[in-house]
Amino acid sequence: MSFQSDLRASIRSIPDYPKPGIIFRDITTLLGDARAFRRAIDELVQPWAGTKIDKVAGIEARGFILGGAVAHQLSAGFVPIRKKGKLPHTTVSVAYSLEYGVDEMEMHSDAVHEGERVILIDDLIATGGTAAAAVQLLQQIGADVVAACFVIDLPDLGGAKKIEALGVPVRTLVGFDGP
Ligand code: AMP
Repeated sequence: MSFQSDLRASIRSIPDYPKPGIIFRDITTLLGDARAFRRAIDELVQPWAGTKIDKVAGIEARGFILGGAVAHQLSAGFVPIRKKGKLPHTTVSVAYSLEYGVDEMEMHSDAVHEGERVILIDDLIATGGTAAAAVQLLQQIGADVVAACFVIDLPDLGGAKKIEALGVPVRTLVGFDGP
């Protein structure tokens, strides 16, 4: 089996969660499968091995798990991008819309220094609203966002194209058709 079909098989699909019409792609099953988890991290890391990445930024909450492992592997720092009100120090913030709702995200304003090379990590890109907001936050404080990386792409929702239009290359490991 290719690594993509291995990874695909390790992701659980839950119809009509959190609301009717959404198929929730649950990566807890991937995370719980040692081989799939290692493979996903290895594949996310692979393009950057031997290059200088200063920081890995992960989006709450699943992006923390994947981003932490990727940062460790690249000997990079980790930067959490969190839901409003969770970070204790001075923050920058941005409002964004989700596939299923509206929210606000924040990061510490001193988490990334001007010109640092950053890769952004989350579990899944759907409409791209969340990732676009995270790119905006990072660029606002002077980061050089060299890529946005996701385990799962929902290509029918056009998120990857939206991020590429911001000048940030996108890498995804497996795609699922539909919403
Ligand atoms: P979006 O902003 O539309 O690209 O949505 C991406 C964010 O919402 C990511 O943080 C995902 O974890 C979550 N998300 C959106 N759609 C799904 C889905 N179908 N299954 C699992 N997570 C999703």
